[in-house]
Amino acid sequence: MSIVSRRILVTGGAGFLGSHLCERLLEAGHDVLCVDNYFTGRRDNVAHLIGNPRFEVMRHDVTFPLYVEVDEIYNLACPASPVHYQHDPVQTTKTSVHGAINMLGLAKRLRARILQASTSEVYGDPQVHPQREDYWGHVNPIGYRSCYDEGKRCAETLFFDYHRQHRLRIKVARIFNTYGPRMHPNDGRVVSNFIMQALAGEPITIYGDGSQTRSFCYVDDLISGLVALMETEDAVTGPINLGNPVELSIRELAEAVIELTGSSSELVFAPLPHDDPVQRRPDITLARSTLGWQPRVALREGLQRTIAYFERLRDELGPSGRKP
Ligand code: NAD
Ligand code: UDP
Ligand code: UDP
Repeated sequence: MSIVSRRILVTGGAGFLGSHLCERLLEAGHDVLCVDNYFTGRRDNVAHLIGNPRFEVMRHDVTFPLYVEVDEIYNLACPASPVHYQHDPVQTTKTSVHGAINMLGLAKRLRARILQASTSEVYGDPQVHPQREDYWGHVNPIGYRSCYDEGKRCAETLFFDYHRQHRLRIKVARIFNTYGPRMHPNDGRVVSNFIMQALAGEPITIYGDGSQTRSFCYVDDLISGLVALMETEDAVTGPINLGNPVELSIRELAEAVIELTGSSSELVFAPLPHDDPVQRRPDITLARSTLGWQPRVALREGLQRTIAYFERLRDELGPSGRKP
């Protein structure tokens, strides 16, 4: 990690990944400006950082222009849970596309390096397995997930066009399913749902028959990958996959959560959401060779830390995980 202190903007900084990133950058001695509109993020996620004189929070929606002075930009603003991004799909596309244009415009004026939090969803329901960066994907342009998938694909297009046309220094990370403390307890994603259900002794809701697969990366590993990518020389633009290549079925995940929580919850089966990808696993050869990066935290260890977080939250806030 560089020892030179920089001013760094993190959009979506009050969200799950953003809050961990702000923390990591502050620990490295940088000045951090966290910008968030609190759509899915929470002030609580960054409350412990507020006293730090190097940390600043600004309520702002990235679909509107932003005039600040920074050296680097991590663009994370965008709801990531299917439940949330489908709640207001037009706003989701605006956040990805107008947000990218505004942050790229800002980076262009400042000649700042800019990193985009892209996603494995650019591969859609992949027909190539595992997914490598040179796979163009299999994406429905008009479905329920399209606001997110196509918004993120268009953001990648914008990043590469600003790179070619305006010689911007860009970094594009394709993030695969990531979990850990500070996921929103009601955010609808599978890890938080299963843990909250198991802790409450409620049925665990498996969508479909649970044979669909995902590969889950612990948040600390993911943040190390993002920071390592930002630190690379200008010639490295990505896109580069960041995720944990250990793949398991959703049913296996449910069984692991039941075992680790010691829960008596039963499994119940509910309809599969539209266009739910059948399989997903990153090929991280490029991240290994370019960044010298690979995940270190095994699933059981990561789940244990995440369960401990949700247990604390439940004890503080009650079973719903929300403040009364
Ligand atoms: P999150 O929902 O916890 O965080 C997103 C943050 O962006 C929230 O704080 C939200 O309030 C903020 N935000 C949303 N729209 C905004 C807007 N218009 N202006 C300003 N702020 C806005 O989700 P996360 O898991 O932390 O994801 C962060 C980023 O990483 C997202 O861009 C997401 O697409 C990407 N990503 C995450 C995962 C994952 O598994 N966690 C996987 C792939 C990609
Ligand atoms: N922009 C911003 N902050 C800046 C500079 C630009 O938010 O410091 C926004 C502005 O809204 C603009 C967009 O970024 O529309 C794209 O900027 P760019 O310079 O690429 O385009 P132009 O201003 O020429 O349309
Ligand atoms: N899922 C599930 N039960 C839940 C939430 C999600 O079975 O309560 C499934 C979902 O259908 C998908 C997988 O778990 O196959 C991962 O879902 P998530 O929303 O976390 O992320 P995705 O990878 O689909 O964006």
